[in-house]
Amino acid sequence: MNVFEMTINDLHIALKGKQISSVEATSAMLERIESVEPQVGSFITVTPEVALAAAKEADQRIASGNCHLLTGIPLAIKDIFLTEGIRTTCGSRILDNFIPPYSATSWEKLRNLGAVLLGKLNQDEFAMGSSNESSAYGVTRNPWDTTCIPGGSSGGSAAAVAARQAIATLGTDTGGSIRQPASHCGCVGLKPTYGRVSRYGVIAYASSLDQVGPLTRDVADCAVMLEALAGHDPKDSTSVDTPVPDYTSALKRGVKGLKIGLPKEYFIAGLDPDVQSAMAAAIETYRRLGAEFVDITLPHTDYAVATYYLIATAEASSNLARYDGVRFGHRAEADSLLDMYTKSRSEGFGSEVKRRIMLGTYALSSGYYDAYYVKAQKVRTLIMDDFTKAFADVDLMLTPVAPTPAFKIGEKVNDPLQMYLSDIFTIPVNLAGTCAMSLPAGFSSSGLPIGLQLIGKPFGEETLLQAGYAFEQATEWHTRKATI
Ligand code: GLN
Repeated sequence: MNVFEMTINDLHIALKGKQISSVEATSAMLERIESVEPQVGSFITVTPEVALAAAKEADQRIASGNCHLLTGIPLAIKDIFLTEGIRTTCGSRILDNFIPPYSATSWEKLRNLGAVLLGKLNQDEFAMGSSNESSAYGVTRNPWDTTCIPGGSSGGSAAAVAARQAIATLGTDTGGSIRQPASHCGCVGLKPTYGRVSRYGVIAYASSLDQVGPLTRDVADCAVMLEALAGHDPKDSTSVDTPVPDYTSALKRGVKGLKIGLPKEYFIAGLDPDVQSAMAAAIETYRRLGAEFVDITLPHTDYAVATYYLIATAEASSNLARYDGVRFGHRAEADSLLDMYTKSRSEGFGSEVKRRIMLGTYALSSGYYDAYYVKAQKVRTLIMDDFTKAFADVDLMLTPVAPTPAFKIGEKVNDPLQMYLSDIFTIPVNLAGTCAMSLPAGFSSSGLPIGLQLIGKPFGEETLLQAGYAFEQATEWHTRKATI
C-alpha cells in the first residue's frame, strides 16, 4: 500500500515494525502534495523543512521505543491554528505574512506526541463560509469532482484527506465547518462538545460556538486524534476539566440496544433524493445491527439558522475588531490614524467578512441589541432545551449532514442566503454545544460522497465513535477513494 493511502493506525504499524521510516513516509507525502496540489489547492502553506526535521526527530523517538500512535505521522492543519514561527493567515489577506509567536494548544499536543506538520490548509476567510470560496488564497476543489466545492470552512482539511495529501487533518467547527466538508469529501469529521478541546491559539470567529476537531479516513483514526486533542487547558477558561475517556476502547461496543432518535424536522421535503435514500439505507443498516429507532422532535429547528447568524456575526464583529493595521498583519499607507484603520480593514478583509462584521455590529448596536442579539440568545436557550428534552429518551440522533451533496464552484457565491442554508442541519448542534460526527454513508448518482450525521449527548463522544465504528464495519463507503 502507498504511504499516502494509509490510515494513522496502518502507518503506525509500519513505522513501529521498521518497514518504513517517518522521513520516508513524510517525503512520500510531500511528493504526493506536490503532484495533486495543482488540481486540488488544499494548502495555503506547505512546510517541507519543518516536516522533515520533525520526521527525523520522530524516527529517533521510534528507535528508542518511545512511540505514541501519532509519532511520525504526517498531518496537516487548517490555517486558523497558530503555529509558532510558521505563517498563519486564517484565509485572510489581513493576516498575510503573519508569523505567530506561539502555537495553538491543540496543535502543540499533537506535535508533542511526535506528529509531523506537512503544512497549513486552505479555508474560508476567518472560517466564514460553506464552500471555501471566501479564502483570499484561491479556491480548493473537491477531489471527487474538481468542478465542485469541497465544503467549508475547513474545505482544505477535508480535501487534503480525500486527495491523500495528509494522513489526517485538523479543522474547526462553528456551524458545521468540520462536518459539512467531511460529508462532501467522503471523510470522517468530528465536532467535539464545546469545552472538550482547547481553543487556545485558534483564531476566534464566534467564541461561544467554535470547537476544534479531527478529519480522518476512518472512525478508528478519529478516536486516536480526539484522545490526543481532548482535555482541560488552563489557557482556555472554557475548556472543561472532565476526564478524557479511552476513545479507542469504546469502538467495539456495538450498537445493540442503542436508541437512536430521528428528528422529524431534519427529514424535510426538499432534501436531495440521493441524500434521502442514503439516510434510509443507513437506518436499515443500524436496525440490522440491533439499534432501535425513535421518532423525536426538535421543535425550534426552524429558528436555528437565523439565531446562528445573529450570534455568530455579533461575536465575530467583536473578535475581528483587533485587526486594525496596528497589531497584526496588513497595514495600509494613510495620512491619519483613522484613515489607516479604515483603509487597512477595507483592503484586508474580503466581502463575506465585511458583510458579517456589518451584520454583527448592527445586531449589537444600542437601538437593536434587545430586538436581535438578546432575542437570539433566548432562542438559543430554547434550541438547547430541545436537545436536552430529546436526549432524555435517546442515546444518539441520526440526521443528514447537509441537504445536498457538494454543489458546483460558483453556484452560490452570489446568493449568501442559499449558502447559509447549507448548514441547516449542523448549526443547531453548535448552538446546543453538544457533539456530532459526519461519516461516509453513500454516493449521489453523479458520484459525490454523502455524509451521515450522528449527534451525541454533551461529552457523549464515546457513543458517537462506537456507533460510527459499527456502521463503518457494516459498510464499505469509507474505503472508496477519489480517483484523483
Ligand atoms: N458555514 C458556517 C458559516 O459560514 C459555519 C462556518 C464554521 O463552522 N466555521 O458561518
